[in-house]
Amino acid sequence: MAKAELKVMLLRATPDPDEVVALGARLCYAQADLDTLRERVETRDQQKYISGVMERGHLSVTEHASFTFAVEGVSRALLAQLTRHRIASFSVQSQRYVSMADGFDFVVPPSISALGEEEEAEFIRQMNTMHAWYCQWQEKLGGAKEKANEDARFVLPNAAATRLLVTMNARELMHFFELRCCNRAQWEIREMAWQMLAQCRKAAPALFAKAGPACLSGPCPEGKAACGKAKEVKERHAMLL
Ligand SMILES: Cc1cc2nc3c(=O)[nH]c(=O)nc-3n(C[C@H](O)[C@H](O)[C@H](O)COP(=O)(O)OP(=O)(O)OC[C@H]3O[C@@H](n4cnc5c(N)ncnc54)[C@H](O)[C@@H]3O)c2cc1C
Repeated sequence: MAKAELKVMLLRATPDPDEVVALGARLCYAQADLDTLRERVETRDQQKYISGVMERGHLSVTEHASFTFAVEGVSRALLAQLTRHRIASFSVQSQRYVSMADGFDFVVPPSISALGEEEEAEFIRQMNTMHAWYCQWQEKLGGAKEKANEDARFVLPNAAATRLLVTMNARELMHFFELRCCNRAQWEIREMAWQMLAQCRKAAPALFAKAGPACLSGPCPEGKAACGKAKEVKERHAMLL
């Protein structure tokens, strides 16, 4: 049983994602054959082609680039939010096939850590209590096997850590960053989203040049619920470069 730390890794991406999307963008509006188009796109400003189609809302070209992230040290609470994104593919560590008899890692919310060492220790004691409950039920239901695990897990907390792979295309990622890099998003998924955005920008600087929360490029869609921190958000975004 240990406190989990967020780890986000861009595992694989479509090779040359900017080039692939720029080629798709150029191809739609050119008479040239493929070889000529490829040469043009390889040697010219890919950003220009990409921003051209994006400004027209012709976003389907951005679906040609795909990105797979490996993530660990995130809570089941985060998982519930992440899997609401339907245009993504997931592989998640199972609580049925994987026994937690030896303990589970857990995410401690920073707000609880900020209360002080004693309060954090109390939270950790509660995690240990839940682990003891889990072991009791697992034992009563027949030991560390799938059938027992699947019901014993009902006493595990939202804080229980998990690990997963998630794959999204660039169009879905841009939508994800708009919602989840926003200060209105919950802190844990927001932190993960910013780390994903930083890695996407390195892999595809033209494609993700303007990706991020809506306030980077226009008014906040949250209206009265707006955080009022667009300036800080823009500063954080500028630091990604
Ligand atoms: C700050 C915040 C607070 C939230 N609070 C709540 C809450 O209280 N309760 C709650 O239940 N959820 C909540 N959500 C989750 C939210 O409602 C969405 O389920 C989640 O953000 C996924 O968004 P999406 O459906 O746009 O994205 P995706 O599922 O990633 O889909 C991307 C886009 O594809 C299109 N699309 C996908 N599927 C369909 C479809 N079946 N039909 C038509 N178009 C489709 C839509 O244009 C969609 O925007 C919250 C999200 C945020 C960011």
